[in-house]
Amino acid sequence: MGNSEFLIPQPSPDLDQDLAVKSFSYGSNAQYKLNLYRMTCSCSDFNKRNRKSYPQSDIRRMCKHLMLQYSQSVELSGLSDFNRYAISNCTTIKGNFFDILIETTNQRVFINFWEIDEWWDIFLKNTNGEWQSYKYVPHENDFAYGEKPRGIVRILKKKLRSFYQWSRKRNKAIEREKKDKAEGCAPILVLIITICFLICAVF
Ligand SMILES: [Zn+2]
Repeated sequence: MGNSEFLIPQPSPDLDQDLAVKSFSYGSNAQYKLNLYRMTCSCSDFNKRNRKSYPQSDIRRMCKHLMLQYSQSVELSGLSDFNRYAISNCTTIKGNFFDILIETTNQRVFINFWEIDEWWDIFLKNTNGEWQSYKYVPHENDFAYGEKPRGIVRILKKKLRSFYQWSRKRNKAIEREKKDKAEGCAPILVLIITICFLICAVF
């Protein structure tokens, strides 16, 4: 995935105004302050997920509220078909995003998640050329809600499984390396403290 695939046209400066928008949560009366031109929102997804670290022209910056406002105020024809699908369905994009190719059907599958052990969003085009999304549960190596991408379930599950196992191994190796480094620093620290103590004792 190149970064250009996340690019979206920035809303016009006319939309530089603060709007009060409603929460998506059922039964919630919460309101958020949103500015479409500046691509900011006061909701927790925008702030806790650090969406503001992405440029204003990047779809990963958008929470659901920004997507809804964008779809109502900006011409969507300038978007890539995936970005248009995501924004018009208020499907927010998570931090980890990559794609794999299913060689037998020549289908490109997008995989998107926050943490490797949480549910993943899987996006692919159906035979009508429309984007569809599925939820994949990595530790069960299965799709949630019984909704599966028919025809490629086996091959896709095999690929997702091997990616999951490889990622977990890599994460463990990184953790081990960090721990080894921290332990490696400890004797040096003790030595420095001892020397300081001896110097103080002498003088
Ligand atoms: Zn928001």
